[in-house]
Amino acid sequence: MKMSPDPDNLAARRQQVVEALRPVLPAGSLLADVEDTRPYECDGLSAYRQLPMVVALPENEQQVIDVLEVCRRLQVPVVPRGAGTGLSGGAMPIVDGLVLSTAKLNRIVRMDPVSRTAIVQPGVRNLAISEAAAPHGLYYAPDPSSQIACSIGGNVAENSGGVHCLKYGLTVHNVLRVRVVTIDGDVVELGSEAPDAPGLDLLAVFIGSEGMLGIVTEVTVKLVPKPAAAQVIMASFDDVVTGGNAVASVIAAGIIPAGLEMMDRTSSRMVEPFVKAGYDTDAAAILLCEADGTALEVAEEIERMSEVLQGAGATAIAVSQNEAERLRFWSGRKNAFPAAGRISPDYYCMDGTIPRKQLGHVLTSIEQMESVYGLRCANVFHAGDGNMHPLILFDANQPGEFERAEEFGAAILALCVEVGGTITGEHGVGIEKINSMCVQFSSAELEAFHAVKRAFDPHRLLNPDKAIPTLNRCAEFGQMHVHAGHLPHAHLPRF
Ligand SMILES: Cc1cc2nc3c(=O)[nH]c(=O)nc-3n(C[C@H](O)[C@H](O)[C@H](O)COP(=O)(O)OP(=O)(O)OC[C@H]3O[C@@H](n4cnc5c(N)ncnc54)[C@H](O)[C@@H]3O)c2cc1C
Repeated sequence: MKMSPDPDNLAARRQQVVEALRPVLPAGSLLADVEDTRPYECDGLSAYRQLPMVVALPENEQQVIDVLEVCRRLQVPVVPRGAGTGLSGGAMPIVDGLVLSTAKLNRIVRMDPVSRTAIVQPGVRNLAISEAAAPHGLYYAPDPSSQIACSIGGNVAENSGGVHCLKYGLTVHNVLRVRVVTIDGDVVELGSEAPDAPGLDLLAVFIGSEGMLGIVTEVTVKLVPKPAAAQVIMASFDDVVTGGNAVASVIAAGIIPAGLEMMDRTSSRMVEPFVKAGYDTDAAAILLCEADGTALEVAEEIERMSEVLQGAGATAIAVSQNEAERLRFWSGRKNAFPAAGRISPDYYCMDGTIPRKQLGHVLTSIEQMESVYGLRCANVFHAGDGNMHPLILFDANQPGEFERAEEFGAAILALCVEVGGTITGEHGVGIEKINSMCVQFSSAELEAFHAVKRAFDPHRLLNPDKAIPTLNRCAEFGQMHVHAGHLPHAHLPRF
């Protein structure tokens, strides 16, 4: 465990770093006073906080290069930061580190409706890309529920998903090229604007690398035409297992809806009074299934999906009758996380992925865990992708509740692995799921990840101690957690 530096040493170190950075950054782009750095102390995982030593807000790529040069020379760890909406602590600062914010790199460099691409700086908001593309009848498909605020650089680092990713793909399927500054100050371009790039697919390695391999300074994204029509079905179910199985039935019928989302009763009841989306709050679970395309395609798909859902046990079906109603149905789902604040002082949002056919089993198991841990859990998720977001409700002011919420979350992730899934779908590992990486991966696999990190960042300065646990950490974790009768990494030395 890293020891906190002595306050006098930290102050002297801050002074040294500020003096080295002052010549390379404009006034106002370097923050070192506590009242200025406080807003950067956490991301969306606000249970974990740490004030950074300094914050740099470069205004162009050359300033990014210069900041990294100073950090490399003085061996200062660097935490990249977009909008700070991440839910796994990826942008959480390091006590003697620098936060490199992309907030001022927020320009749309080029909008090209002919090639259906846009080149944007990393601090551009996800939704701002679609807004700029709208006059051309185009949009950027991956739509995290945080899209009003989150940055495209953060999306690249987390390989973010959203409601429409089932049909249109995740960030990795919609980004053609990134321009990156490495910790050595080199500018490299990964991918290309052509459909494929020569050489190893390093773009795919980089997307989802959580700020550990380089700083993204430019992104080329694909744009897709806005569908002529779209409608959404809201289907009600008497129990979550039948609802979960209905998701598998839709996909098994050969339909790829534009969105296929599920909310349990706890979720629809917490959202409905807030958003007035028109949800069936008596149903144990509701599914939202969207069809998009031409008017004829939408009509046909809505009819087929309705048949499949009824065959799978839906007790009621409502279809949006106009665009306002369609947006209202989605607004409830998109506001589910903030709505948790209406029924609980705190919530802990988990993110695991499971094979679709396991949805019913996993939801029942989570229900049983609620009494084991003495905490409620609301389930909202991208059901079509098998990407679950259990929201564990707790009160941080009650002694022990946060620790129980963490244990509950870890147990859910272990269950995801047990049924053949993964510990993250789209929110990344960060600091939140670092122990769960020891459950998911063998020591040989973790060592391979470390080797990739070393190839990009031999000095271990970019977002160190995030996302990939050390083998020693796994050994310590293994001592505490026996999983399915086995100690993970039992052969490793304990300390
Ligand atoms: C209410 C709410 C709803 C959400 N819904 C979704 C959802 O539906 N789908 C989803 O996938 N996520 C969702 N998220 C999580 C979050 O919005 C995404 O992970 C998003 O991509 C983070 O973007 P950001 O700009 O806020 O990044 P930050 O939180 O600032 O950073 C995230 C990670 O990216 C790294 N990073 C940021 N910029 C760069 C850069 N330029 N170069 C290198 N590394 C960088 C950081 O170091 C960190 O590791 C939600 C969050 C909230 C609060």
